[in-house]
Amino acid sequence: MSTYNFFNEVNTSFDLAAKHSKYDQGLLDQIKICNNIYHITFPLERDDDSIEVIHGWRVEHSHHKLPTKGGIRYSTTVNEDETMALAALMTYKCAVVDVPFGGAKGGIKIDKSRFSDAELERITRRYTYELIKKGFIGPGSDVPAPDYGTSEREMGWILDTYRQLESDLNAEACVTGKPISQGGVRGRSEATGRGVYYGIREACRNADDMKELGLDPGLEGKTFVIQGLGNVGYAAAKNMISHGAKMIGVAEIEGSIYDANGIDLEGLMAYRKENESMIGFGDTKELEDNTAVLKAECDILIPAALENQLHDWNASEIKAKIIAEAANGPTTSEAHQIFKERGKLVIPDMYLNAGGVTVSYFEWLKNLSHARFGRMEKRFEENSYRKILKVVEDISDRNFTEDEMKQLANGADEYDLVDSGLEETMINSYQQLNELRKKHDIDLRTSAYLNAIEKVGVIYEQMGIFP
Ligand code: GLU
Repeated sequence: MSTYNFFNEVNTSFDLAAKHSKYDQGLLDQIKICNNIYHITFPLERDDDSIEVIHGWRVEHSHHKLPTKGGIRYSTTVNEDETMALAALMTYKCAVVDVPFGGAKGGIKIDKSRFSDAELERITRRYTYELIKKGFIGPGSDVPAPDYGTSEREMGWILDTYRQLESDLNAEACVTGKPISQGGVRGRSEATGRGVYYGIREACRNADDMKELGLDPGLEGKTFVIQGLGNVGYAAAKNMISHGAKMIGVAEIEGSIYDANGIDLEGLMAYRKENESMIGFGDTKELEDNTAVLKAECDILIPAALENQLHDWNASEIKAKIIAEAANGPTTSEAHQIFKERGKLVIPDMYLNAGGVTVSYFEWLKNLSHARFGRMEKRFEENSYRKILKVVEDISDRNFTEDEMKQLANGADEYDLVDSGLEETMINSYQQLNELRKKHDIDLRTSAYLNAIEKVGVIYEQMGIFP
């Protein structure tokens, strides 16, 4: 078993794709390298008055476009290598979906469950302060977002801290994934998972690929196993199920469960909340450990947790025909090779989970324009009002006033715009990757890297070098 180095893994895939590009080594090296790496340490005063030193990072991978963009992760896995790899993936991801940002990533190495909410707020605010001090955050320089272990709550604290310290008319655009009331955009929180669904749908519409895998085109009736029911995994599963796919296995921290007849997602979420574990839910069978279900017989495997889950020692046992990478970097380069040899279809992370940053881009634009999407578009107001009325009538057990209905509809027009932009992005990007794949006779991951290299490379070429 080789030692795992995530940044090397990313660069191994990059190098494979770079062979098909026209760029020479110097320019390729410039694309690959991380431009700025910042390791921050600061003391946290804990609720019991003790002091604990906190380690955090922010890495700006590529400045070919500004601002740089990427989430902030709170996890014990965070380190410099991981943050560099994730920042690089952000550069390539943004290029693949034509979002005009450079890549960045941040992280704090903590086990969230050890800290109170007040402590997490102090950690977040101090981290933000350190980023401000060194110019690692700002609407035009570097814009964080949620990632594993963070949510709109942390983004709200980041915005407030930024606003306290900087007098910036565009302050709201310094971070995305915020609560709606603080300038967030409707549809951002589920965007990554919804994008995962759109991406899988596109891949499954490809009749040639499906034929080769021995599957019918379309999502209807396909079975899937998912690892991780966090923000991304939950939204992906929900959308997959509502479009005809069947969830038959789930892997989470506490173990893995399986039921060939299908697992009720909402029931499972409620059960897990109440029991703090999925084990014992309904008719599901508990498997021997928390990754065993990844090897289950199914059409689609969706790793939606962390990197380095499918490696050389379990890749040959995976039975799924399609590996849909909702997480960043779940498949090592060795595992990827094994999947390729075994004729599996891998839908690569940098395309499949790009829905989050796509909608972050919409949020950033909204903040810079200081107007809410849809406000000027009467057409949407009419349609959405009717649509929302129908939904509310269906699900609610009370009557809403005319004003309440208008308010709900006001959100729906923005949601419609965001969601249609997301869907179009996932469709167009898939087409780009598919074309390039055919042209060079390569797999989808290599095609995604090549697509990114070509788009970033041309910008570096045109920009020239300062001074
Ligand atoms: N953390 C997400 C990702 O890995 C979103 C990044 C963003 O919206 O800036 O793509």
